Amino acid sequence: RAKQDGRGVFRFFEPALDAAARKRRALELDLREAIQSGQFRLNFQPIFDLKRDRIGGFEALLRWEHPTRGNVPPIEFISVAEETGLIIAIGDWVMQEACRQATAWPAHVRVAVNVSPLQFRNSGFPSVIFQALSHSGLSPDRLEIEITESVFLDGETTVVTLLHKLRAMGVRIALDDFGTGYSSLSYLRSFPFDKIKIDKSFVDAVAEDRSAAAIVRAIVDLATALHMETTAEGVEDRDQLSELRGQGCSSIQGYLFSRPIEGNMVAAMIGSAMSAAA
Ligand code: C2E
Ligand code: MG
Ligand code: MG
Ligand code: MG
Repeated sequence: RAKQDGRGVFRFFEPALDAAARKRRALELDLREAIQSGQFRLNFQPIFDLKRDRIGGFEALLRWEHPTRGNVPPIEFISVAEETGLIIAIGDWVMQEACRQATAWPAHVRVAVNVSPLQFRNSGFPSVIFQALSHSGLSPDRLEIEITESVFLDGETTVVTLLHKLRAMGVRIALDDFGTGYSSLSYLRSFPFDKIKIDKSFVDAVAEDRSAAAIVRAIVDLATALHMETTAEGVEDRDQLSELRGQGCSSIQGYLFSRPIEGNMVAAMIGSAMSAAA
Protein backbone atom coordinates (compact mmCIF):
# COMPACT_ATOMS: atom_id res chain seq x y z
CA ARG A 1 0.00 0.00 0.00
CA ALA A 2 2.72 2.39 1.05
CA LYS A 3 4.64 1.62 -2.13
CA GLN A 4 1.60 2.27 -4.23
CA ASP A 5 1.01 5.62 -2.52
CA GLY A 6 4.60 6.63 -3.06
CA ARG A 7 4.37 5.87 -6.74
CA GLY A 8 1.08 7.71 -6.95
CA VAL A 9 2.63 10.82 -5.49
CA PHE A 10 5.58 10.58 -7.83
CA ARG A 11 3.36 10.21 -10.89
CA PHE A 12 1.23 13.08 -9.75
CA PHE A 13 4.20 15.34 -9.09
CA GLU A 14 5.94 15.23 -12.46
CA PRO A 15 3.01 16.33 -14.63
CA ALA A 16 2.38 19.10 -12.07
CA LEU A 17 5.91 20.44 -12.60
CA ASP A 18 5.35 20.16 -16.30
CA ALA A 19 2.17 22.12 -16.09
CA ALA A 20 3.90 24.92 -14.18
CA ALA A 21 6.66 25.07 -16.79
CA ARG A 22 4.10 25.14 -19.60
CA LYS A 23 2.20 27.94 -17.88
CA ARG A 24 5.39 29.98 -17.60
CA ARG A 25 6.30 29.33 -21.21
CA ALA A 26 2.82 30.47 -22.31
CA LEU A 27 3.16 33.63 -20.24
CA GLU A 28 6.56 34.29 -21.80
CA LEU A 29 5.13 33.98 -25.33
CA ASP A 30 2.23 36.25 -24.40
CA LEU A 31 4.67 38.81 -22.97
CA ARG A 32 6.63 38.85 -26.26
CA GLU A 33 3.38 39.38 -28.10
CA ALA A 34 2.36 42.12 -25.66
CA ILE A 35 5.49 44.11 -26.47
CA GLN A 36 4.92 43.73 -30.23
CA SER A 37 1.25 44.62 -30.21
CA GLY A 38 1.30 47.37 -27.60
CA GLN A 39 -0.77 45.78 -24.83
CA PHE A 40 1.05 47.70 -22.10
CA ARG A 41 0.03 51.01 -20.66
CA LEU A 42 0.94 53.05 -17.63
CA ASN A 43 -1.16 54.06 -14.68
CA PHE A 44 -0.02 56.83 -12.37
CA GLN A 45 -0.41 57.09 -8.62
CA PRO A 46 -0.04 60.51 -7.00
CA ILE A 47 2.55 61.13 -4.31
CA PHE A 48 1.27 63.85 -2.01
CA ASP A 49 3.83 66.28 -0.63
CA LEU A 50 2.94 66.88 3.04
CA LYS A 51 5.35 69.81 3.42
CA ARG A 52 4.03 71.80 0.45
CA ASP A 53 0.50 70.45 0.66
CA ARG A 54 0.26 69.52 -3.01
CA ILE A 55 0.87 66.65 -5.41
CA GLY A 56 4.64 66.40 -5.83
CA GLY A 57 4.72 63.63 -8.38
CA PHE A 58 3.27 60.43 -9.74
CA GLU A 59 4.64 56.89 -9.75
CA ALA A 60 4.28 55.15 -13.11
CA LEU A 61 2.83 51.66 -12.65
CA LEU A 62 2.83 49.18 -15.48
CA ARG A 63 -0.49 47.66 -16.60
CA TRP A 64 -0.93 44.75 -18.99
CA GLU A 65 -4.28 44.31 -20.66
CA HIS A 66 -4.23 40.93 -22.39
CA PRO A 67 -7.04 40.17 -24.89
CA THR A 68 -8.10 36.96 -23.10
CA ARG A 69 -6.23 36.95 -19.77
CA GLY A 70 -7.64 40.38 -18.96
CA ASN A 71 -5.67 42.66 -16.63
CA VAL A 72 -2.56 40.84 -15.48
CA PRO A 73 -1.07 42.44 -12.34
CA PRO A 74 2.70 43.22 -12.31
CA ILE A 75 3.29 40.73 -9.51
CA GLU A 76 2.26 37.96 -11.93
CA PHE A 77 4.45 38.91 -14.88
CA ILE A 78 7.41 41.04 -13.72
CA SER A 79 9.32 38.01 -12.39
CA VAL A 80 8.84 36.10 -15.67
CA ALA A 81 9.88 39.22 -17.58
CA GLU A 82 13.04 39.33 -15.46
CA GLU A 83 13.87 35.64 -15.87
CA THR A 84 13.47 35.83 -19.65
CA GLY A 85 15.25 39.15 -20.08
CA LEU A 86 12.09 40.67 -21.56
CA ILE A 87 12.14 43.24 -18.76
CA ILE A 88 14.83 45.13 -20.71
CA ALA A 89 12.50 45.87 -23.63
CA ILE A 90 9.51 46.42 -21.35
CA GLY A 91 11.51 48.72 -19.09
CA ASP A 92 12.71 50.75 -22.09
CA TRP A 93 9.13 51.30 -23.13
CA VAL A 94 8.10 52.28 -19.58
CA MET A 95 10.93 54.82 -19.36
CA GLN A 96 10.11 56.43 -22.73
CA GLU A 97 6.37 56.48 -22.10
CA ALA A 98 6.61 57.83 -18.54
CA CYS A 99 8.90 60.69 -19.61
CA ARG A 100 6.71 61.46 -22.63
CA GLN A 101 3.55 61.72 -20.55
CA ALA A 102 5.20 63.72 -17.76
CA THR A 103 6.17 66.54 -20.14
CA ALA A 104 2.46 67.51 -20.26
CA TRP A 105 2.31 68.02 -16.47
CA PRO A 106 3.16 71.22 -14.52
CA ALA A 107 6.91 71.67 -14.05
CA HIS A 108 6.89 71.01 -10.28
CA VAL A 109 5.34 67.55 -10.77
CA ARG A 110 7.81 64.67 -11.05
CA VAL A 111 7.48 61.19 -12.46
CA ALA A 112 8.85 58.14 -10.63
CA VAL A 113 9.76 55.05 -12.65
CA ASN A 114 10.43 51.57 -11.22
CA VAL A 115 13.62 49.97 -12.50
CA SER A 116 14.23 46.25 -12.05
CA PRO A 117 17.69 44.96 -11.07
CA LEU A 118 18.28 43.28 -14.44
CA GLN A 119 17.39 46.45 -16.32
CA PHE A 120 19.57 48.54 -14.02
CA ARG A 121 22.53 46.18 -14.47
CA ASN A 122 22.21 46.23 -18.28
CA SER A 123 25.08 48.20 -19.80
CA GLY A 124 22.68 50.16 -22.01
CA PHE A 125 20.69 51.54 -19.08
CA PRO A 126 22.25 55.04 -18.85
CA SER A 127 21.63 55.58 -22.56
CA VAL A 128 18.01 54.41 -22.17
CA ILE A 129 17.54 57.19 -19.63
CA PHE A 130 19.45 59.67 -21.76
CA GLN A 131 17.27 58.89 -24.79
CA ALA A 132 14.01 59.00 -22.85
CA LEU A 133 14.97 62.44 -21.57
CA SER A 134 16.20 63.82 -24.88
CA HIS A 135 13.29 62.44 -26.96
CA SER A 136 10.70 63.79 -24.53
CA GLY A 137 12.49 66.97 -23.56
CA LEU A 138 11.72 66.26 -19.89
CA SER A 139 14.00 68.06 -17.48
CA PRO A 140 16.19 65.39 -15.78
CA ASP A 141 15.36 66.59 -12.26
CA ARG A 142 11.72 65.71 -12.93
CA LEU A 143 12.62 62.04 -13.39
CA GLU A 144 13.07 59.87 -10.31
CA ILE A 145 14.09 56.27 -10.69
CA GLU A 146 13.04 53.78 -8.02
CA ILE A 147 15.41 50.93 -7.29
CA THR A 148 15.18 48.32 -4.56
CA GLU A 149 17.88 47.07 -2.25
CA SER A 150 18.16 43.92 -4.36
CA VAL A 151 20.20 45.78 -7.02
CA PHE A 152 23.07 45.89 -4.53
CA LEU A 153 23.37 42.11 -4.43
CA ASP A 154 25.33 42.35 -7.68
CA GLY A 155 28.22 44.14 -6.08
CA GLU A 156 28.02 47.39 -4.25
CA THR A 157 30.91 49.26 -5.89
CA THR A 158 29.67 48.86 -9.46
CA VAL A 159 26.16 49.85 -8.44
CA VAL A 160 27.33 52.94 -6.57
CA THR A 161 29.46 54.05 -9.55
CA LEU A 162 26.43 53.73 -11.80
CA LEU A 163 24.23 55.63 -9.35
CA HIS A 164 26.71 58.50 -9.34
CA LYS A 165 26.71 58.50 -13.13
CA LEU A 166 22.91 58.76 -13.21
CA ARG A 167 22.96 61.43 -10.52
CA ALA A 168 25.43 63.40 -12.67
CA MET A 169 22.83 63.38 -15.44
CA GLY A 170 20.52 65.18 -13.01
CA VAL A 171 18.17 62.27 -12.38
CA ARG A 172 16.83 61.65 -8.87
CA ILE A 173 17.25 58.27 -7.16
CA ALA A 174 14.79 56.72 -4.71
CA LEU A 175 15.26 53.56 -2.64
CA ASP A 176 11.97 51.64 -2.91
CA ASP A 177 10.41 49.21 -0.39
CA PHE A 178 12.87 50.33 2.26
CA GLY A 179 13.28 48.05 5.25
CA THR A 180 12.41 44.78 3.54
CA GLY A 181 15.96 43.86 2.47
CA TYR A 182 18.79 42.21 4.35
CA SER A 183 20.99 45.15 5.18
CA SER A 184 18.96 48.23 4.42
CA LEU A 185 20.98 50.52 6.67
CA SER A 186 24.33 49.82 5.07
CA TYR A 187 23.07 50.97 1.65
CA LEU A 188 22.23 54.37 3.08
CA ARG A 189 25.93 54.82 3.79
CA SER A 190 27.00 53.88 0.31
CA PHE A 191 24.94 56.38 -1.66
CA PRO A 192 23.11 59.67 -0.91
CA PHE A 193 19.65 58.76 -2.16
CA ASP A 194 17.21 61.59 -2.80
CA LYS A 195 14.39 59.65 -1.24
CA ILE A 196 13.56 56.60 0.83
CA LYS A 197 10.22 54.91 0.26
CA ILE A 198 9.10 53.33 3.51
CA ASP A 199 7.61 49.94 2.75
CA LYS A 200 3.88 49.43 3.13
CA SER A 201 4.45 46.64 5.67
CA PHE A 202 5.64 49.25 8.23
CA VAL A 203 3.03 51.81 7.21
CA ASP A 204 0.18 49.30 7.63
CA ALA A 205 0.72 49.04 11.36
CA VAL A 206 2.04 52.53 12.06
CA ALA A 207 -1.11 53.81 13.78
CA GLU A 208 -1.77 50.73 15.94
CA ASP A 209 1.51 49.08 16.69
CA ARG A 210 4.14 50.82 18.83
CA SER A 211 7.06 48.95 17.36
CA ALA A 212 6.00 49.73 13.77
CA ALA A 213 5.60 53.39 14.78
CA ALA A 214 9.07 53.36 16.35
CA ILE A 215 10.62 51.84 13.22
CA VAL A 216 8.97 54.41 10.95
CA ARG A 217 10.08 57.20 13.27
CA ALA A 218 13.65 55.90 13.19
CA ILE A 219 13.61 55.72 9.37
CA VAL A 220 12.24 59.26 9.03
CA ASP A 221 14.76 60.67 11.54
CA LEU A 222 17.63 58.86 9.87
CA ALA A 223 16.55 60.04 6.40
CA THR A 224 16.20 63.61 7.65
CA ALA A 225 19.68 63.52 9.17
CA LEU A 226 21.02 62.27 5.83
CA HIS A 227 19.09 64.95 3.89
CA MET A 228 16.89 62.39 2.20
CA GLU A 229 13.15 62.73 1.67
CA THR A 230 10.71 60.04 2.76
CA THR A 231 7.56 58.70 1.14
CA ALA A 232 5.28 56.38 3.08
CA GLU A 233 3.86 53.73 0.75
CA GLY A 234 0.38 52.23 0.96
CA VAL A 235 -1.26 54.80 3.23
CA GLU A 236 -4.89 53.75 3.48
CA ASP A 237 -6.44 55.63 6.40
CA ARG A 238 -6.48 58.93 8.27
CA ASP A 239 -4.91 57.52 11.43
CA GLN A 240 -1.86 56.44 9.46
CA LEU A 241 -1.72 59.86 7.80
CA SER A 242 -1.78 61.82 11.05
CA GLU A 243 0.85 59.56 12.62
CA LEU A 244 3.11 59.96 9.57
CA ARG A 245 2.58 63.71 9.45
CA GLY A 246 3.45 63.96 13.13
CA GLN A 247 6.63 62.00 12.54
CA GLY A 248 7.78 64.43 9.85
CA CYS A 249 7.41 62.14 6.85
CA SER A 250 7.80 64.22 3.63
CA SER A 251 5.12 62.63 1.48
CA ILE A 252 2.51 59.91 1.31
CA GLN A 253 1.28 57.58 -1.38
CA GLY A 254 -1.68 55.25 -1.09
CA TYR A 255 -5.35 54.56 -1.59
CA LEU A 256 -6.27 57.20 1.03
CA PHE A 257 -5.26 59.94 -1.39
CA SER A 258 -5.81 58.04 -4.63
CA ARG A 259 -5.47 54.70 -6.36
CA PRO A 260 -3.33 54.59 -9.52
CA ILE A 261 -5.20 56.37 -12.34
CA GLU A 262 -5.11 56.43 -16.13
CA GLY A 263 -2.61 58.81 -17.74
CA ASN A 264 -5.34 60.97 -19.24
CA MET A 265 -6.75 61.68 -15.76
CA VAL A 266 -3.50 63.06 -14.33
CA ALA A 267 -3.91 66.69 -15.44
CA ALA A 268 -7.44 66.86 -14.00
CA MET A 269 -6.26 65.41 -10.69
CA ILE A 270 -3.45 67.95 -10.39
CA GLY A 271 -5.93 70.71 -11.22
CA SER A 272 -8.53 69.67 -8.67
CA ALA A 273 -5.95 69.04 -5.95
CA MET A 274 -4.59 72.56 -6.51
CA SER A 275 -8.00 74.21 -6.38
CA ALA A 276 -8.88 72.20 -3.25
CA ALA A 277 -5.74 73.51 -1.56
CA ALA A 278 -6.40 77.11 -2.65
P1 C2E B 1 5.97 49.31 -5.90
O1 C2E B 1 6.95 49.98 -6.76
O2 C2E B 1 6.28 49.24 -4.45
O3 C2E B 1 4.58 50.04 -6.18
C1 C2E B 1 3.58 50.26 -5.23
C2 C2E B 1 2.50 49.21 -5.33
O4 C2E B 1 1.60 49.36 -4.23
C3 C2E B 1 1.62 49.34 -6.59
O5 C2E B 1 1.17 48.03 -6.94
C4 C2E B 1 0.45 50.17 -6.07
O6 C2E B 1 -0.72 50.02 -6.86
C5 C2E B 1 0.28 49.56 -4.71
N1 C2E B 1 -0.39 50.47 -3.76
C6 C2E B 1 -0.29 51.82 -3.68
N2 C2E B 1 -1.01 52.31 -2.67
C7 C2E B 1 -1.59 51.25 -2.06
C8 C2E B 1 -2.48 51.11 -0.93
O7 C2E B 1 -2.86 52.08 -0.28
N3 C2E B 1 -2.86 49.85 -0.62
C9 C2E B 1 -2.47 48.75 -1.33
N4 C2E B 1 -2.89 47.55 -0.95
N5 C2E B 1 -1.61 48.84 -2.40
C10 C2E B 1 -1.19 50.08 -2.75
P2 C2E B 1 1.25 47.48 -8.43
O8 C2E B 1 0.93 48.55 -9.41
O9 C2E B 1 0.47 46.21 -8.47
O10 C2E B 1 2.79 47.16 -8.60
C11 C2E B 1 3.41 46.17 -7.83
C12 C2E B 1 4.91 46.18 -8.01
O11 C2E B 1 5.23 45.83 -9.36
C13 C2E B 1 5.54 47.55 -7.78
O12 C2E B 1 5.72 47.79 -6.41
C14 C2E B 1 6.84 47.37 -8.54
O13 C2E B 1 7.76 46.66 -7.78
C15 C2E B 1 6.41 46.49 -9.71
N6 C2E B 1 6.19 47.35 -10.89
C16 C2E B 1 5.10 48.07 -11.25
N7 C2E B 1 5.32 48.74 -12.40
C17 C2E B 1 6.60 48.45 -12.77
C18 C2E B 1 7.45 48.85 -13.87
O14 C2E B 1 7.08 49.66 -14.74
N8 C2E B 1 8.70 48.32 -13.90
C19 C2E B 1 9.16 47.47 -12.94
N9 C2E B 1 10.42 46.98 -13.04
N10 C2E B 1 8.40 47.08 -11.90
C20 C2E B 1 7.15 47.57 -11.81
MG1 MG C 1 7.92 51.73 -6.71
MG1 MG D 1 7.39 50.46 -3.38
MG1 MG E 1 6.18 47.95 -2.51
